[in-house]
Amino acid sequence: MVKNIAVIRGDGIGPEIVNEAIKVLNRVAELYGHTFNYTEVYMGGCAIDKFGDPLPASELEKCVSSDSVLLGAVGGNKWNDVPGNMRPEKGLLRLRSGMGVYSNNRPAKIWKQLAEASPLKRSIVDNGIDFIIVRELIGGIYFGEHKTENGIATDVLKYSEAEIERIGRIGFETARKRNKRLCSVEKSNVLDSSRLWKKVMHRLAEEYPEIELSDMLVDNCAMQIVKDPSQFDVIVTENMFGDILSDEASMITGSIGMIPSSSLGASSCGLYEPIHGSAPDIAGKDIANPIGTILSAAMMLRFSFDMPDEADSIENAVSAYLDAGCRTSDIMSEGCRLVGCKECGDLIVEFLNKE
Ligand code: NAD
Repeated sequence: MVKNIAVIRGDGIGPEIVNEAIKVLNRVAELYGHTFNYTEVYMGGCAIDKFGDPLPASELEKCVSSDSVLLGAVGGNKWNDVPGNMRPEKGLLRLRSGMGVYSNNRPAKIWKQLAEASPLKRSIVDNGIDFIIVRELIGGIYFGEHKTENGIATDVLKYSEAEIERIGRIGFETARKRNKRLCSVEKSNVLDSSRLWKKVMHRLAEEYPEIELSDMLVDNCAMQIVKDPSQFDVIVTENMFGDILSDEASMITGSIGMIPSSSLGASSCGLYEPIHGSAPDIAGKDIANPIGTILSAAMMLRFSFDMPDEADSIENAVSAYLDAGCRTSDIMSEGCRLVGCKECGDLIVEFLNKE
């Protein structure tokens, strides 16, 4: 198969981690006889430096016309004083909305080899951590009106029934492919938008009788994720709650550097990126963990290119790399061998085999 991938290296550690994911994709292409063509796209701080805009229309067009987009990360202190609508992260918001990717899926899964890296007690980890957060991505407070006038700042949180329904369906469909339990997270004791959210979820539940739907307030959910994460299968929630909960969920699995994500809309062209940021504190030092990006590439193969065997090969190679005791510094533990970002990519390539 021939696939065209738009590649956004971005800022900070972005170029380093994306390079390793591309090494892995190239090896997959060799093993399975595919051709992956890469188109370089500038977004974020590097695009501000080059074009004076975090995502010019021409760069967005390259993404929309590709088969999928692989992204490192954007942002950094260098662009802190840039006006709000021109900040690097604005490029990302524009990309998500320009691609129409309304569903962000983040797995929170602990690798058995990294149980010691979780900040949770071993007795909690041993019960298992394996759930997915389905987060609404292009609505809610991040996309409402923002203004500051006369010392008063306002951010509008707005959801329509249609926006809730389309993300709700992704939640139910995801649960259907897993253990058939869906937890809808909101703040319906306070917010109108959450009361509408809850009403729509329960209406949808009538179409999915095989799925067990539960409701949870977001503050309770934040607590339950650390108290007993094994209770969750799929969580579906709105944009800002999902943003916060998924960072919390990633931390209990060991390192933010290990977690991939996919963002999908109505078409198969998805956006794939690790969940962390551009980590300016470690950029250029060859110490970043590229596994979140490598696993994002695996998700691209699975969800956008319908290449499940190829995706399994990557995930198995990551597991073999961890079994061999290799660790970047963020997940280092006693008795393991410390490796850098490049060596991590090289080793995963060596462990890659055709399934
Ligand atoms: P961050 O995720 O970049 O870093 C948080 C901490 O985790 C840092 O100590 C960093 O060194 C570490 N870390 C992150 N990724 C790592 C990896 N792959 N391997 C090892 N350690 C890793 O969050 P931040 O410091 O709050 O943000 C830095 C910049 O990134 C900001 O400009 C922020 O706006 C931006 N950001 C971008 C995205 C994105 O592009 N999707 C997401 C979040 C933050």
